[in-house]
Amino acid sequence: MRNDELLALDRAHVWHPYGPMPGRTDPLVVESASGVRLRLAEPVHGQAELIDGMSSWWSALHGYNHPVLNEAAHDQLGRMSHVMFGGLTHEPAVRLATRLVEITPEPLQHVFLSDSGSVSVEVAAKMCLQYWRSVGRPGKQLLMTWRGGYHGDTWQPMSLCDPEGGMHELWSGVLQRQVFVDAPPVTYEESYARMLREQIALHADEVAAVIVEPVVQNAGGMRFHPPEYLRVLREACDEHGVLLIFDEIATGFGRTGTLFGADQAGVSPDVMCVGKALTGGYLSMAATLCTTEIAEGISRGEVPVLAHGPTFMGNPLASAVACASIDLLMSQDWALEVKRIETGLREGLAPAAELPGVREVRVLGAIGVVQLDHDVDMAAATEAAVRAGVWLRPFRDLIYTMPPYVTGDEDLARICTAVRAAAQAG
Ligand SMILES: *Cc1c(COP(=O)(O)O)cnc(C)c1O
Repeated sequence: MRNDELLALDRAHVWHPYGPMPGRTDPLVVESASGVRLRLAEPVHGQAELIDGMSSWWSALHGYNHPVLNEAAHDQLGRMSHVMFGGLTHEPAVRLATRLVEITPEPLQHVFLSDSGSVSVEVAAKMCLQYWRSVGRPGKQLLMTWRGGYHGDTWQPMSLCDPEGGMHELWSGVLQRQVFVDAPPVTYEESYARMLREQIALHADEVAAVIVEPVVQNAGGMRFHPPEYLRVLREACDEHGVLLIFDEIATGFGRTGTLFGADQAGVSPDVMCVGKALTGGYLSMAATLCTTEIAEGISRGEVPVLAHGPTFMGNPLASAVACASIDLLMSQDWALEVKRIETGLREGLAPAAELPGVREVRVLGAIGVVQLDHDVDMAAATEAAVRAGVWLRPFRDLIYTMPPYVTGDEDLARICTAVRAAAQAG
């Protein structure tokens, strides 16, 4: 298909994330991807290839077209791409679930596989509400969270995203009203910790679980917070009979410098969601893990099953690639690579702090953020990055990068140059 033809059809028929219909700006056409490079169907602003600064939204840890992941996919394709999971099981899913139990905090023992992060959050909420219903506390139907978060785009997760200024504000009168507290401060403040404890105590009769993204609030604003707050949540939840959910869909698999955000606090949630990087960015898959207490609690209830079963639950192809991706990650010193990227981002992004219109530069693990004092001019910022040979996707007042861990130092320096150029242009 010719590029102009493709773009005309795209505009006429294809929705893109958070986009209008018909589309108003032309997306770039990607022909293939390999390593950390996206190859464009036609050069744009003189660039035939772009270095990927986004890991395709936190997912492509090992870069694209990786021989090990390709082989795992090919191998599994030759056996079966999919079979239903009701009444059937298979080695890829069993291996994946077992692997997830091994690498996550010890109390998490049971795994529900689903097809996207949002669904894994739905499942987490259902598990917690049903647990309380089963053990005779049906009044606990709400979730509590802090502002500034993001937990997905389906109905229940939307109700947990920041109700003000977030992308789901439109629905604030329609969505389930959850219990919100202020967003976590960037440094540890005893008064905030006290407020968390008080609010959990106050709402314990109606709240089934607290749900947060540990250490980094991602799509809600790329904000970092001290892990101490996670310990405070754990203690207060235990004290008042409230469950704790960590949404590790973005933070999981090493992104913040530890394998999971939970590891920075040394606590375990009762329920954990993982997704995005689970399959190394190859296929859509997510998982919800829970403790034996929750699983057994549900099984003791009037309806002793978890009534959820996605058609593509446990998809063998995705499971096989996820196993390969996790094995690949664990077979190398990933923490060293993340540290290297953290150092590169700190050095490369620091000069952005001096640019006019820049409010703050912050880096944690393999995440680099330049926050402006105004909303980004998306078109100008994206063009500036592309001219510098890099793919970035800014939002709101944020120009950020979370490169694949395999990004070399030279490419990393180019990403930093592009982020600075985007900040200057946008
Ligand atoms: C991306 C994301 C989700 C939603 O995942 P999808 O796969 O897009 O449905 C949920 N929570 C967090 C923290 C995320 O970053």
